Parts: sequence; structure tokens; C-alpha cells
Amino acid sequence: MGHALNSVLQDILSRWKRMSGYRVLWLPGMDHAGIATQNVVEKKLAAQGLDRHQLGREAFIEQVWKWKAESGGNILHQLKRLGASCDWSRERFTLDEGLSKAVKEVFVRLYEQGLIYRDKRLINWCPRCHTALSDLEVEHEELEGKLTYIQYPLSDESGRHITVATTRPETMLGDTAVAVNPSDDRYTGMIGKTLILPLTNRRIPVISDSAVDPAFGTGAVKVTPAHDFNDEAIARRQTPPLQFISVIGDDGRMTADAGKRYAGVDRYECRKLVANDLRQLHLIEKEVSHRYAVGHCYRCKTITEPLSTPQWYVNVQSMAQDAIKAVRGKRIRIIPDMWENTYFAWMEDIKDWCISRQIWWGHRMPVWYCGEKLNDRCKDLNGVIVSRVEPRTCPHCGSDALTQDEDVLDTWFSSALWPFSTFGWPDQTDDLKTFYPTSVLVTAFDIIFFWVARMIMMGITFMHDVPFRDVYIHAIVRDIKGQKMSKSKGNVVDPLIMMDRYGTDAFRFSLAAFAAQGRDIRFSEDRVEGYRHFVNKLWNASRFIMMNTQQVKFSETLRNDAPSLSLPGRWIVSRLAATAESMNAALPEYRFNDAASSIYQFIWHEFCDWYIEMTKIELPDEQFGQETRRCLLKVLDTSLRLLHPFMPFVTEEIWQKIKGCEFQAIPDDSETQESIMISAYPKSLPRDHQAEEEMSYIIDAVMGIRTIRGELNISPSLNLSALIKTSSRAAEKVLRDNIHYIKTLAKADRIEVGADIRKPDGAATAIKGSFEVYVNLQGVLNIASEIDRLKREKAKVDTTLVALNRKLFNEDFLQKAPKDIIEKEKAKHEELMKMRDKITDSIKMLKEAEVK
Ligand SMILES: [Zn+2]
Ligand SMILES: [Zn+2]
Repeated sequence: MGHALNSVLQDILSRWKRMSGYRVLWLPGMDHAGIATQNVVEKKLAAQGLDRHQLGREAFIEQVWKWKAESGGNILHQLKRLGASCDWSRERFTLDEGLSKAVKEVFVRLYEQGLIYRDKRLINWCPRCHTALSDLEVEHEELEGKLTYIQYPLSDESGRHITVATTRPETMLGDTAVAVNPSDDRYTGMIGKTLILPLTNRRIPVISDSAVDPAFGTGAVKVTPAHDFNDEAIARRQTPPLQFISVIGDDGRMTADAGKRYAGVDRYECRKLVANDLRQLHLIEKEVSHRYAVGHCYRCKTITEPLSTPQWYVNVQSMAQDAIKAVRGKRIRIIPDMWENTYFAWMEDIKDWCISRQIWWGHRMPVWYCGEKLNDRCKDLNGVIVSRVEPRTCPHCGSDALTQDEDVLDTWFSSALWPFSTFGWPDQTDDLKTFYPTSVLVTAFDIIFFWVARMIMMGITFMHDVPFRDVYIHAIVRDIKGQKMSKSKGNVVDPLIMMDRYGTDAFRFSLAAFAAQGRDIRFSEDRVEGYRHFVNKLWNASRFIMMNTQQVKFSETLRNDAPSLSLPGRWIVSRLAATAESMNAALPEYRFNDAASSIYQFIWHEFCDWYIEMTKIELPDEQFGQETRRCLLKVLDTSLRLLHPFMPFVTEEIWQKIKGCEFQAIPDDSETQESIMISAYPKSLPRDHQAEEEMSYIIDAVMGIRTIRGELNISPSLNLSALIKTSSRAAEKVLRDNIHYIKTLAKADRIEVGADIRKPDGAATAIKGSFEVYVNLQGVLNIASEIDRLKREKAKVDTTLVALNRKLFNEDFLQKAPKDIIEKEKAKHEELMKMRDKITDSIKMLKEAEVK
């Protein structure tokens, strides 16, 4: 659903801008989703009892390409079903030849500038995916664990000890110090002493480091530089640095350095084993439960392990500064702007980016190692060769004993280049000149750092300009109760099913109508169904118009000052102008829901409910008939074009039909256009405020009579007699001049209008705008018996309400009944209250009518 929303919003922008005269390119494509894709294919292999190592690198990659062909096809199929108006001839994939060339180029240039380097330090490692992860790819989640207090004896045989607290006892096997805060009085005198590390009998020093929190545990912390980020920092601050001992391997099992007893044991088994062994030695002081954040792999949810391995990094510090400036200086706008702070917070604290992954699916590192290092230069460089093309011999020493780095690049490394790699960079192509910087990126908040920030950094570095002007961050689509959609909850909505059920137009329109800025979307299927009714309404209105406009000839453009245009005609054209105005104001600000609501209100309520109904009176009229036909067609044409970006299918279908008519509904500029999608988007039309004001009098008068009919449940077929008390001469004149509309729309055969009208006996009253409207009830209904009937009805409602209240104020019921039952009862209560109010109003209206 998130992808559907994303694509629909992009398509609305593309269609709107294309119709507004811009040369619009929406370039479709996909990244290769390295770890995720590799996992899927590995799972498929596992089902056949195979793993990738049995297959070998080449055969495995071949399998992944096969899978990509299928799933990539599905993604494109879904985009097309949504009506996405991409330029399909330009589809790109991050592993395409051209994009791969850009990847190599960027890697080599950054390496030559000293911004890409190799280092052995702690990284987050997923033992299941068997790869390094960037900080971003680790999700932190609170878990209930245990804090184990372990005694480390002093080596001086004084019988004294220091107690340390840890959530991961197995890592103690790799401890190389215990650290205390230098200002912690409890431990002065201990610093510099030696401890015996239990279970290993290694000797480790007590050191001081001001980063140690005296308030945590005992104030003394065990230091495992090879398996903890804080400890690594402590280790590096010491002179000489502390020793790193890796006791957990890349498969999540203990290494030989953990000691014979533990080597090969799974890290969690080892945790229990170590605790047991310590307990035997009476070295566990206590164990307390403890909640703490644990890192999980964002792809497979396995708990990650900090491991010390050699990896490749990008030094992003100065790139990040430029990227911050671009947003601060408003060269890039992030919408809604609340996301700017998120962006700044992360960018200001950015760490170097680990870009190597120990998987097979992706861009192989353009890095080779010289096996011989025949001269000093090669030795200085540690035999590292970084090259755009595969070297035959070592450029440093001439050796031909070369091996390529086995790793691949983080997928986001290639995605970061998307805004220029897809246009042929590093070649200076016409596309690059025409389309870079791009106008807008529409995306979800969860990839602001993975993707958006990195595109900005790479764009500024290699193109010397920002990659896009606007970044629109859309909402998350949740279920109707506001819960995240997930497979495990079973509340996932499939866009394809929605489109099958209600049509793509209704589905697209609902997503746009839901897309209010800064608010999560609560998706409701009922709303989609509601918009299908809207499509039907438009369809039926169009049929009515086409049936009534045959054999009409005209070709002029739409004007609302045509002398023979009726008041309703002038009014609808002015309301259309207002709608175009508000849509053209909402779309540049990404207020999709406001734009959708404008056109919906216009078409349904103003055009269909009022104007089309009034044309039924005008069409047979000699004076207005022709002009009304013109007006109907022109308003329909303009409405279709305004609506087109939201509902491309039905608007095209209808437009093709009216366009084909001999009378040519389409304004001159688009007469020759073969599709509505390349016709002109309606811009501002002049408003007619006088017509709008005058029409509001007519609407008030009709609504006044309709209110009384509705309140008193008077049959719609019954003709009424009404009086309208006006407040001004001007309003009075408008009503008199247009009395035939009011009579027909309100179904009243006699209407009196005037400023000095008085309420007759036995008449019901309604107040609308500045009017008082009276409807004569004599001969329509018997006031006294109607009041009796309503009172009986009210009594019935009251009885039900009392019973319902008893339930809803009963704590027992509220606690025990299922939530949806309570919700249902509450909804019922609300409905009854409304009904009660309505009956009360009706009785009041009748009682007032009764008064002599
Ligand atoms: Zn994983
Ligand atoms: Zn060499």
C-alpha cells in the first residue's frame, strides 16, 4: 500500500505538470536490493536442500537474475495497473551496465581523493546473513534480559575482587581490562592493579576511563574491545591500546580464542554455559532482570553482533556538511518541513559509511589485492589496487598474482547515484543537461537516511548541484484502526484486489484524498467504495450531457460573461474557476487531499446536484437552451481535465467521447490532442462574484423548503406552497427573477417572496442564510396528530436509549465485552441520539407552526 500511495502521488504530479505544459520525465526503475534479494533466493535454495556455497558464486548469481526477472516484472505490472505514466523506454536497474559504470567511477574517484578507505574496526554483523551492516541497517529493540554480576578476583591473593555487571556473560571470555571512572572513590587504589579473568586465567589490568558511568551496575565495567562499540573506544584511548580478542565468530559461534571448552558453541548456548561455570565457582554475586536495547538485522531480524572485521568505508564528513547546507539554504525543500529536523539531527552526527557487504548479489568491489608486493610502494599500499577495469598485473609492482575483493557494495551506494547515473553519467549526456537537477523526489520517511541523504551527498559531490529541489515525504498507510499493516496481523490490504473490486480510479482517488500532510493514513475500504460511487456519478452526468448536447455546434472557448448565459450558467463557470484556482494552489504545495476534495465537491455537489438539475429546466428554453448546452459540455470538459491526474482512466474514456462529437467540446488549444493526458491543465478563469452571490440566494431558498420537507418527512412528490421573507431588495429581485428554478428544485407550485411577509398560521419555519422560509402545512399534514406520532416515536427511542445507557455505563460490560462489540454499541448510541435530536427538532417545528 505504501508503494501504491508513493506511485499514485508521483503520477498525479507527473500528469498535472505534463498537462501544465512541462516536459515531464518520470523514469521508472529498481534497485537490486542486495541483502533482501539474496535472502529470498537463499530461502528458495534451502527449500531444495541447497545453499549458495554448494552452487558457487556464478551459478548463484544466475539464480538471482532469474528471480529478479520474475519479481521485477511483477513490480512493473503493478505500476502499470495503477496507471503510472512513466517513460517505460527508459527503465533502469542498478545493476545495468551503465549504472555499474557510474558505480565504479564514483568508487575510484572517492578512493583517489582518500575518501574511501579500508579499516578493521567493530561493525554490526548479521550472523545469519553473514555480512556487515551499516548502522542504519540495525534496528534497536528493547528486550527483557538479565544483568549478571560477576566477581573478578585480584591477582595479589588478597582475597579481594571487583564485581562487574553484564548482559552478555559470554563476552567475558574476550575481556582485556576492567575500567572504572577515575573520579569514583570506591575504586581509587584499584587502578593499575591486575585481575584474574575467571574461566580463562588470563591477567587483565584495572584501568580508568572517564566515559565509564559510575551509576551503572557496580561502576566497574568489563572491557571487551572486540565485541562492544563503547569498549572498542575505551581500548583505543589507552596507551598502549588494549588487546582485541575475538571470541565470537562470524557465524555466531564461539571461536578457538574463547577456549577449548567453549569453541564452536553457539553464542547463546555459551551465555548459559559461562553463567553455569561461574556459578560453580561461586563467582556470580547476583542476577537481576534488566531491559535493554538490542540491535537486530533489518532484513532478517537476527540479533546482530559487533565484530571486528576489515571493511570498506566512505568518509562522509565533508559531504554531510555540504548536504546540510543545501537544506539549510533552501536549495532543497523537505515537505512537510517537520522532517527537516530529523534530517539535520542525523546528518550532524553522521558516522563514516560502511559500504562493503559479504554477500554475492551486487556490485563487486572494484578492488584487487596483490599477492606478492614485490616493491616498497606495493607494500606501503598493502597490495591494494583500486581500478575502473580489471588489472592484469599489479600497477605498483608488476606481479600478476592478483585476487579481486570478494565483497559487494551496499545497495544504497548505487542507489545514491540514481539521479545522475540513470542519465548516463559520467558521460555528459543531453539527458543529464536537461533533467538534472530533478524537480521532486517522493518517498517514505524510513529511507530519508538510507537514500535521500546519500543522494544529496553524492549529487553535490559529483554533479556540483543538488539532485532534486523538493523532497515530499508521504505518510504511512495503516489499517482502519491505525495499526501498522503486517503479514502477521493479517491486516495487509492488497492494492491489486482493491483495483479489481472498485476500479483503479476509485482506489487512486482514495489514496490521494487520504494523503493529508503529517498525518498517517487510516485506510478504509468503505472510502474506496464511496469513490466508486463518485466515478458512477460522473459517468451518469456525462451520459446525460452527451444525450442532451447532440447536434450543437460551437467552438469558442468557455467564457462566463456570455450575454445569453443564464445565472446558473454564470455561477457554475465561476465555481469551476474557483475549483481550478484551489487545485492549482494545492498541488504545488503537495496538498493532494485538498486538491482531491476541491474537485470532488465541485463535481458532485455543485455540478451534478445543482447545475445539472437546473439545466433540466433550461434545456427546453429557447433563450438559454443553446448556451446551456455549450456550458454543460465546456464545464464537463474542464472538470475532466482537472480530475484527470487523479482518475486517469474514466476521464480519458469520457473525454474521448465528447471530443469525438461534431460539436467539439474541447477548447481550441486541445482540439487536435489525441489524449486528455496531453491536453492543457485548466488554469485560472475569471470569477463572477455577483453570480455566486445571487446563486447563493436561490440555493438558500431551495434549501429552506427542503429542510422543512425533510424534518417533517413530507413526501417528495407532494407539491408545497411556500413564503420567503427576504432581508434585502436585491435578494428579493433575484428570487423573483429566478422563481421558476426554486419552484422546480423545491417542488413548490406556489411561492411568495417579499421583505414584509409574515408567517401564516399553520406554517412550518426554517431559517437559511438571511431568509425565513415558511411552508404551509394545511392540507399537507395534520399538525396535532403528527406531533402525537412523533412523541410516540421519541418515547420508543428513549426506551432503547435507557437500555443502552445501562450497558455503556456498566464497568463490568466495558471491561469484559470485546472491543468491537463496545464500539458497535457506542455507534448505535450515537445514531439514536441523532435520531432523538431530529425528532425533537421536528416536534418543535410543528409546535411553532401550531401557534396562532
Ligand atoms: Zn540478517
Ligand atoms: Zn603489487
